[in-house]
Amino acid sequence: MKNIETKTVDCCASPGLISVEQALEKVLAQASPVEQVEQVNILHALNRVLAEDLHSTIDVPGYDNSAMDGYAVRSEDCLVSGADLPVSQRIAAGQVGTLLEPGTAARIFTGAPVPEGADAIVMQEMCEQQDEAQLEKNQGGRVIINTVVKAGANVRCAGEDIARGNTVLNAGKRLRPQELGLLASVGLAEIKVKRKLKVATFFTGDEIITPGQALAAGQIYNSNRYTLTGLLQAMDCEIVDLGIVPDTLEATLDVLQQAASSADLVITSGGVSVGEEDYVRIAVQKLGELTMWRIAMKPGKPVAFGKVKNALFMGLPGNPVSVFVTFLLFARVLILKLQGAEDCFVKRVSVIADFDWPEIKRQEYLRVRLLEKDKQMVAQLFPHQGSGVLSSASWADGLIEVCIGQQIKQGDKVTYLPFEGLF
Ligand code: AMP
Ligand code: MG
Repeated sequence: MKNIETKTVDCCASPGLISVEQALEKVLAQASPVEQVEQVNILHALNRVLAEDLHSTIDVPGYDNSAMDGYAVRSEDCLVSGADLPVSQRIAAGQVGTLLEPGTAARIFTGAPVPEGADAIVMQEMCEQQDEAQLEKNQGGRVIINTVVKAGANVRCAGEDIARGNTVLNAGKRLRPQELGLLASVGLAEIKVKRKLKVATFFTGDEIITPGQALAAGQIYNSNRYTLTGLLQAMDCEIVDLGIVPDTLEATLDVLQQAASSADLVITSGGVSVGEEDYVRIAVQKLGELTMWRIAMKPGKPVAFGKVKNALFMGLPGNPVSVFVTFLLFARVLILKLQGAEDCFVKRVSVIADFDWPEIKRQEYLRVRLLEKDKQMVAQLFPHQGSGVLSSASWADGLIEVCIGQQIKQGDKVTYLPFEGLF
């Protein structure tokens, strides 16, 4: 797989609709990062966004040290294989040795400081220790070095990871486990991160009920709540869940008021189409402003975006797969920008299609699974791509982005968006 550029989309084929890229631009244009910061211990900083540039006050590693279990030597003593040297000292990690006299070797272990005078480490597999028992008692012995030794071999140099004074991480970095480890390695414990984003959610529909209750005729379970909540939790948002809202304008206005006054961002599902029972769009227009709401994409054509009071608003469609896909494409990027993250965009990679797909008039996001075939990564299509078929998203490990006018034949290169790394 290799990284490829994000494609721009011609969406003229769908009059009245805006493209995914245009929608994203509009969304991002409205979003500015939260300003407040808080101090947290790095142990609790996973997925938080760094609010300051961080520099190292130390070298990492802090001293030249051994990359191997073996023997520290002066390389000039081992210009030919077979050098026979007395072992003058034994240095384990956490200990500090003494000057290595010419013509001697030091038993050394991984991570232990290279003693002064030594300039190379020979791995123990290349050595014959003569009197092991004696050495363990720190009483010398001899070692035969069965190799030619080059200066610098198997030495991890002071500062080779991070040099004192260098920038470790910049503000805007969303912290993954490896960044937490990196911060710890330079001795930082408390750091400044952007405050958590508060996201209010509600779920419209007279037909939806909470799992745990028995279904009556015509009812379905509120799966969107769980998909959306999981996505928001994975993005480290603070969630204000306002529950299920009936399909009336009054109820929708009420809950929207409440949501907008308690959060930075309101995300809803359902009720954003043009049906007679769709009140979300109207409610947003009454209480705030609606920026756009029809996108040339499938699944997920109706996505509302706007502002109510001081909160941004994103109304996702009702269909469960549409919720998942539109969240990944729009809400995720919006949230990252509001959280202050520098790197907001989905990484796209090039893979080979293991299926045919006809040309359509909206940009499509097909649920696929990658597998290796003839040493290439190919994308297999889930057989049922309906926007209500949530098992497609569960089966899949990513999406294939099909541009307007693009027709896919098996063996074509296609654009893949891995779920991995998206939340
Ligand atoms: P709507 O956009 O409200 O017309 O909803 C579109 C479709 O999504 C309908 O089939 C709804 O029943 C379904 N739907 C809406 N909300 C939910 C939800 N919270 N969980 C599962 N399905 C939903
Ligand atoms: Mg509905």
